[in-house]
Amino acid sequence: MTTEFLTAAPEPDRLDTLTRIIGNGRYFQRLPPQLLRNILGQGTLIECAKDEVLIREGDTLPKQMFILVEGSVAVLVNGHFILRLDQAGDVVGEMGVIQSTPRSADVVTETPCRLVAFAAELFEIDHYSPQASILYVLFSHIMAAKLRITTSQALIRKNQRINAQGEIFAGIVDADPAGRAAAKHALEASWPEAEVMEFDTPAQFLECPAVYRFDLVITEVDIFGDFHNDSTSIANFLAAAKLRGAHILVSSSACNQASRREFLIRQGADDVIAKPCPPFDLQHVVGKARVAYYKNLELDRVETAAETDQLTGLANRRRLQEFLDALVTVYPEQQRSFSLILLDVDHFKFYNDTHGHPAGDAVLASLASLLAAGLRRGDLAARYGGEEFLVVLPDCDKDSALDLAEKLRRAIECAALPHKEQQPGGNLTATFGVASFPVDAQEPDGLVKKADERLYRGKHLGRNVVVASP
Ligand code: GH3
Ligand code: MG
Ligand code: MG
Repeated sequence: MTTEFLTAAPEPDRLDTLTRIIGNGRYFQRLPPQLLRNILGQGTLIECAKDEVLIREGDTLPKQMFILVEGSVAVLVNGHFILRLDQAGDVVGEMGVIQSTPRSADVVTETPCRLVAFAAELFEIDHYSPQASILYVLFSHIMAAKLRITTSQALIRKNQRINAQGEIFAGIVDADPAGRAAAKHALEASWPEAEVMEFDTPAQFLECPAVYRFDLVITEVDIFGDFHNDSTSIANFLAAAKLRGAHILVSSSACNQASRREFLIRQGADDVIAKPCPPFDLQHVVGKARVAYYKNLELDRVETAAETDQLTGLANRRRLQEFLDALVTVYPEQQRSFSLILLDVDHFKFYNDTHGHPAGDAVLASLASLLAAGLRRGDLAARYGGEEFLVVLPDCDKDSALDLAEKLRRAIECAALPHKEQQPGGNLTATFGVASFPVDAQEPDGLVKKADERLYRGKHLGRNVVVASP
């Protein structure tokens, strides 16, 4: 390992480069660059070869926190691969610098790495000084970013519950047919309205099309995998299952060990149960998950009532904004692109002028139902302006969004709306603009602007079209 003090060898260029690289990381995008630069200047740039141990499980000293600049590190518990950090700006060891308990995992470089290391002394507060240490600012910033990610994930899940329209999906992930049968039996007994899908492996579950959202996943995790084997990374699997909306119940022989139960709960499992267990025990936890689901749903409905447009029943601007922010916030976690469809009703002023405002209102309500019916669970349809609607499609690339926009355009064109034949052109239609994150813009406002520009081009092209480029 070679180390170099950034302050001892102040190379402004290099500090600027590090600030830019790390500033784009998932935790630092909101930290003012100058502040981040000052903070990084107090760290030490280290270069490591492959297979070097940065943190050792059980150690209390030395306490250090690392920010990854380049390369890939693995987190291991009891020698088992748990998690990989490989994005610039990823942080490891941050809890250890503020508490005196032994380190809970090994952290090992998987490739040659460059990291900025911070010694624990840098986080100490001088009790006689009124000022917080600058590294405490860094630490609070990381915690706030983590909280923002968790809150965003919860909001995305909430949206999946709200527009489930009574459909409940449960996934069973287990290579053992007997394990799957036991889980299925428990679901039939305690959550009979759930539609069940079975998967042999976590990979199969993750590959299943994004259109499926799960309210409950019962999973075996006899997959405490080998070092370097990412496809069975438990942490990744649980995180991805959560983003699909699931309450996660781990039913596994691994749950016989207290340390593994604790680990699973810390990684996001909602419930753990040792396997095999008497049928009643499994039915009981499934039943509790069901009760929690309906309680949350009630709560979601009350909460979203204030963020719903009265006329159309769609999300209002505020809920739309929150949802877009949440998708951008979680993007670094899963790197799933999402898309927007903005649409504006053609010659709607004419409709109002000819048939009156109340008739126009009724058309807007019908169009809103048409949109809502054409969406997948987990999508969000919002009233963006008077006769403009915006549809947000998580886990959806440009091509799929274009297909859906085309479908919606045709659905409106074919809808039996009153007086449609009297409209200019002989039909009541709408014009669409499509934009995708991150290819078209890297923040919500820019993305909506892009969709808006395309919509306007569609108007100039003669209306009743979808425009998705350039
Ligand atoms: P274009 O094809 O260029 O979009 O023509 P347009 O007439 O639809 O466009 P413009 O933006 O000029 O007019 C939008 C009209 O939508 C104005 C208003 O009469 C109508 N509108 C906006 N909000 C409402 C509403 O809540 N209810 C009703 N009935 N009409 C609305
Ligand atoms: Mg308009
Ligand atoms: Mg219009």
